[in-house]
Amino acid sequence: MALQANRKKRLLLRPRCDAVFKPRRPLNGGVKFVYCPSCGHVSMLARLERDVCQNCRKDARVVRVRYPWQTLVGIVIILAGTAFLLLGQTQDVPWRDLTATLPLRIGWFVLFVGAGLVFSMWGARVMRAIAAKKGREQFGEAST
Ligand SMILES: [Zn+2]
Repeated sequence: MALQANRKKRLLLRPRCDAVFKPRRPLNGGVKFVYCPSCGHVSMLARLERDVCQNCRKDARVVRVRYPWQTLVGIVIILAGTAFLLLGQTQDVPWRDLTATLPLRIGWFVLFVGAGLVFSMWGARVMRAIAAKKGREQFGEAST
């Protein structure tokens, strides 16, 4: 009962929270892409780092890049893998036998995490390319 009330409260609170925070909050919140107008280099920085080019150390500009589908697929694969393993061990699900032994569970874990990483690295590459293109459009071509 209390849990249900809690969930309801959270649902009610959600729109207000979104209105307060920036509308396009990144999913992992940890990284940003910056474009350097001096040399055209795109750097991936932690959100709290100063906007400095990693190539030439000059000031760089933040380029907002949306997550491409590859990154989202990577996140979904890891979440699905976690659910698959957790449910397989705790609930009476059809794939229970597939997660019955430790070697099997490790195998699945490696498979899901590996596939998830492949997609999220692919996504990071795509985002870097988008950041380079957008940076050139917004802040001008590098003068070389
Ligand atoms: Zn630079």
